Amino acid sequence: MSRFNYEQSEFYGAQKNNYFNLKDDGDTAVIRFLYNDINDVEGVAVHEVQVGDKTLDVECLRAYNEPVEKCPFCNAGKAVSAKMYIPIYDETSKESKIWKRGKTFFGRLAKLCERYRPLVGVPVEVVRNGKAGEKTTTYELLPQGENKDNKQVIDFPEIKAEGIAYQVKSKEDMEYYLRNGVFSEDNQVQTRQNTQTSREVPIRRRTPNYGSEEDSF
Ligand SMILES: [Zn+2]
Repeated sequence: MSRFNYEQSEFYGAQKNNYFNLKDDGDTAVIRFLYNDINDVEGVAVHEVQVGDKTLDVECLRAYNEPVEKCPFCNAGKAVSAKMYIPIYDETSKESKIWKRGKTFFGRLAKLCERYRPLVGVPVEVVRNGKAGEKTTTYELLPQGENKDNKQVIDFPEIKAEGIAYQVKSKEDMEYYLRNGVFSEDNQVQTRQNTQTSREVPIRRRTPNYGSEEDSF
């Protein structure tokens, strides 16, 4: 469980240097995927929610086959997106970062994992194909098999996506958000008027709305 207060919330979402990205067409970087094998790779089902001018990814509280009542955001009809928050090491900036990708990236990582064991032992050149802001942007992955070494995940600075790239909230936190438009810990430094005047908003029962896969690569 990761909690942060209003001041600390500046460190979430806004802090871009935690994220790996290539800005424009033809940009490249050499990275390591901080995974040993496919068993380390996982996707996260999240709800994107607005808090002020920030968008937070909040982990969905139910498995795909569980009833919507398990997750207040699902129950309120908020879209679920399946994302990957991939821990990588950027060889250029010498930092560990999170690379946000859609779930379809799973298959590409699986292929790399089959070929290189452990995956972290091979530097991979990433090439961006697509101009800044272009929805059809793809990324080429070029493993540098000739530079393979015996490095392990433990040899690189640790980075955890939870708390940086997505948040884990309780059912109560979500219900609070649905009533107030903020999470309770954000609200502590704001006026208390909001909470005093807020009323229970009836939660409509709907089937979950699965968002379309927005990430192309
Ligand atoms: Zn949910």
